[in-house]
Amino acid sequence: MPIQLYNSLTRKKEEFAPVNPPEVNIYTCGVTVYDESHIGHARSLFCFDLVRRYLRFRGYGVRFVRNITDIDDKIINRANELKTDWKDLVRKYIARYYEDLECLGIEKGDFEPRATENIPDMVKYIESLINKGFAYEVGGDVYFNVRKFSSYGQLSGQGIDAMETGTRIEANEQKRDHLDFALWKSSKENEPSWDSPWGKGRPGWHIECSVMSQKFLKTDTLDIHAGGRDLIFPHHENEIAQAEALTGKPFAKYWLHGGLLTIDGQKMAKSSGNFVTIRNFLGKYPAGVLKLFFLQTHYSQPIDFTWAAMEEKRSALDRIMIFLKTLERREKGIEPFTRTNLKNILSPVELKNIINDFRQDFIDAMDDDFNSPQAVGALFEIITASNKILCDRGFTEAHLEPLSYARDVVLELGGILGLDFSPLKPALAEDEIDKLISLRQDLKNQKKFDEADRIKKELLEKNIVLEDIKGGKTLWRVKV
Ligand SMILES: [Zn+2]
Repeated sequence: MPIQLYNSLTRKKEEFAPVNPPEVNIYTCGVTVYDESHIGHARSLFCFDLVRRYLRFRGYGVRFVRNITDIDDKIINRANELKTDWKDLVRKYIARYYEDLECLGIEKGDFEPRATENIPDMVKYIESLINKGFAYEVGGDVYFNVRKFSSYGQLSGQGIDAMETGTRIEANEQKRDHLDFALWKSSKENEPSWDSPWGKGRPGWHIECSVMSQKFLKTDTLDIHAGGRDLIFPHHENEIAQAEALTGKPFAKYWLHGGLLTIDGQKMAKSSGNFVTIRNFLGKYPAGVLKLFFLQTHYSQPIDFTWAAMEEKRSALDRIMIFLKTLERREKGIEPFTRTNLKNILSPVELKNIINDFRQDFIDAMDDDFNSPQAVGALFEIITASNKILCDRGFTEAHLEPLSYARDVVLELGGILGLDFSPLKPALAEDEIDKLISLRQDLKNQKKFDEADRIKKELLEKNIVLEDIKGGKTLWRVKV
């Protein structure tokens, strides 16, 4: 069955048919680099990375472009506030942004164009818009003539008349109509500026995305344009106006919009203290916890972050890790079976069939507008079915084969979801842990149980779990 996706432009679910299959072009609006990236950014970065990874899994060759806005009023204002050079500010936060991406395990785009590195292309684009009568210059600024572009408002679904009340002309603007938006802004003294036919200035924010998406994806019509819901108006509406006025062709076939993130029910705001940077988060939990949290809500829906929810995600993720660890121990004959009393155990063949069924459920869910909550559900069904067998007295050698297949599938599906199940590094050196384990054993032998328990507790505080198995052996693992 072909992939279905919800297209914000047509406001309905559609069959996914890229312009040139199996190639798929995706553009997503990236960060403006003037501050630390927060978990709202992480969600947007992660969700569209998921789209990319899933389409790859489904056999598409994906070309993925995510820009970096490295010149903007916000950057200039912040640099002024900090009395620093805007270039130093930008350099610092681009470096931070890439560190965050790496720590989160989110892949870079095939191209990550920066606005300031593509200004001649923007100037050319704006000149063409003026030549076609869609833009005009006034006092060194260039504006897009919105009334000239008759389908303006198609994405946000509002008529021009409804917008009348929402916009106004600022005191320093000379535009002809309050709906018009800036393509080029003349620079004030001491502001960053580039040469143009209209004098020194800088590009507006909207023009950079139209120009860089088409340039780096090498097409007038993108397959997918993605971004946060808050960008629909005016940013994406303006991107469409610019691009379609220039080429006369549809700018993007499918528009995907991600839901926004709140913290404890509030909009994230630095001033009110409910603000979590990616860095803050990763100081407390592994990236997988945040990813699982994102995955369990559909990308288009709003999501509310609470620290309490992270504890739940942590133990859910730990269930997967326990399965992988336990299976490995069984395979190596390290840990004997726990011999519980479950009945009606699945045969090896039934187990394999069930795993395949859930794998198909996963694909069906993801095919349906990247329904990751359901896909994750299917993944956990595999874990539940496998764990039941692993811990049952009916377990036979013959079960090892389907269980190892279960692991392959879990790793495969986890990989599509961007989840990394490799064992976590312990906070202590391994020989240190071994020493503590034998010390604990000595204490137990001396019947000093309280002291022995204290060692176990202290290790647990470092997320190292001790497990006593039959035969007096103690194993350990790192908890998520
Ligand atoms: Zn954009």
